[in-house]
Amino acid sequence: MRILIAEDDPIIADGISRSLRRGGYAVDCAHTGVDADTALMTGSYDLLILDLGLPKLPGLEVLKRLRARKSQVPVLILTALDGTSDRVKGLDLGADDYMAKPFELAELEARVRALTRRSAGTTPLIELGQLTYDQVGRVALINGQPLDLSAREMGLLEFLLTRAGRLVSKDQLVDHLCGWGEEVSHNAIEVYVHRLRKKLESGGVHIVTVRGLGYCLEKPQDEQRPQL
Ligand code: CA
Repeated sequence: MRILIAEDDPIIADGISRSLRRGGYAVDCAHTGVDADTALMTGSYDLLILDLGLPKLPGLEVLKRLRARKSQVPVLILTALDGTSDRVKGLDLGADDYMAKPFELAELEARVRALTRRSAGTTPLIELGQLTYDQVGRVALINGQPLDLSAREMGLLEFLLTRAGRLVSKDQLVDHLCGWGEEVSHNAIEVYVHRLRKKLESGGVHIVTVRGLGYCLEKPQDEQRPQL
């Protein structure tokens, strides 16, 4: 899941992005309305967290342009406590939810989960071999036992799982796992894949290296079990 935070206050932007990255989301930050508008036109996001009071282009205008492009990206708006009319305008323009500042990060995280759940559809569980992945709770289980995964490994697993059986390039993984301002090298991707591969072994789920091209999460062969 990739999230764009459009917020000009560096302390708020930093706090939100840290907390979401810890949760395994890939996060980009835009500090002006113009930057947010450009990022939305050129990148693909699963959620936009939009401050309404943005320099260069107001948040409401960013939202208006986004919906004019027929984008369905869920939008969570951030408003000042007394910004009732802006909040109403935002919802009228197609925002999905709002939060008034100041807010608790835990509540923001809960709303982010709810909005990304809605965009993920009605089947948040992915099952492959003995592996079950809950896209909303962001929990991976093998035979019912939770897997101990870092945020990056979780992000990697989610990206591969939603594309099981298909080739995924290293560039795609780099793009998914890094937000602006932080580098993830091809070598680091190899390390994450290596660790994740080991952790998935017992579930009969295999990440195959396609030399020079990338990786593919193989769908396990159906085991032939005698019918009792
Ligand atoms: Ca602001």
